[in-house]
Amino acid sequence: MSDMEKIMPLPMPGVADYHCHCDYSIDAEGTIEQYCEAALKRGLAEICFTTHYDTNPAGDEAAGTNVICVNGAHLPATPQNMIPYVDHVRRAAEDFYPLGLSVKLGVEISWYEGCEEEAEKLVSAHDFDYVLGGLHELDNICLCCRKTHKKLFEAYSPERLVEAYYHQMAAAARTGLFDSLAHGDYYLRYGRAFYGDAIKKAHLPFIDEFFNVLIDTDTCLEVNTSGIRHGHSEYYPHMDIVNRARKAGVNIPFLGSDAHLPQQIGLDFEAAVAVVPPSLPGFED
Ligand SMILES: [Zn+2]
Ligand SMILES: [Zn+2]
Repeated sequence: MSDMEKIMPLPMPGVADYHCHCDYSIDAEGTIEQYCEAALKRGLAEICFTTHYDTNPAGDEAAGTNVICVNGAHLPATPQNMIPYVDHVRRAAEDFYPLGLSVKLGVEISWYEGCEEEAEKLVSAHDFDYVLGGLHELDNICLCCRKTHKKLFEAYSPERLVEAYYHQMAAAARTGLFDSLAHGDYYLRYGRAFYGDAIKKAHLPFIDEFFNVLIDTDTCLEVNTSGIRHGHSEYYPHMDIVNRARKAGVNIPFLGSDAHLPQQIGLDFEAAVAVVPPSLPGFED
C-alpha cells in the first residue's frame, strides 16, 4: 500500500488544516496537487499552504537556508521569487474547489529580530489569506533542529531559554504582522529530552505576559499536531498552555499538522478537533 493509500479519513466533516508545507519549502516533499489530493482523502474541507519564508542573514543553515524551491531550483527568499508559489496555490484553489476542497494561500515567516522590513515587503507584495509567524531560532541557532539544538541549550538554563523564547514570540506578535503564531512551545521538541522535568513548568513565570501581548495585538495561536508524530503525546503548545491561553482570552481557532509530506496532512486531527472544533476560520478579508 502506498503512503497516500494509508491516509485514513477523519470521522467528521468541516475540518481545516492551516499549516502545511509543500515542495516549495526546502525541507518538505510533495507537490501542491499531491497535498490537495491527500487532503481530500483525509476528508478535510480546507487547507492552507504555509511555505517557509526565511530571510535571516545571520541565520543557521540548518534552520532555513533562506531559499524558496521552484521546480527544483533554490532561489533566494524574495517577494518576487514567491510568485510561482502564489500562482500555483491560487491555481490549485480553482482546480480543487469543485472537488470539495477550499485551498488558501498562506506563508510561515520565520521570526528573528530585524525581519520586520523583509516580512512587510512580502505581505504587501502578495494577497495572503493567512500569515503565520514561526520562531525557529534563538541567538541565530536553530532550536528545533536535531543537529544544532544542543549548542543553544548548553548555553541556557531551562528558565532563561523559555524566557528568551517568549520574549521573541511576544516581539513577533507586537509587529502586528501575523495572524497567528506557530507551534507555541517549540522549545519542547528537543528541550524535553535535553532538560528533562526542569523544562516542564519553565513557561509559568512568562506565559501570562505573553498572552497579554497576543490579546492586545489580536494575534492567534494554533494547535500544531506535529508534536504527536515527534513522539511527545502532546501538541505544540501542550495542553497546559492551551488551557491557560483560553482562560486568558487568547484566540486559538487554527489546527495545523505542519505536514512536510502529503500523507501528514490532517494527521492526528481525530482527537485535536476536540481542542479546536471544526469551524472554518475563513480569512476572507
Ligand atoms: Zn515552523
Ligand atoms: Zn511549518
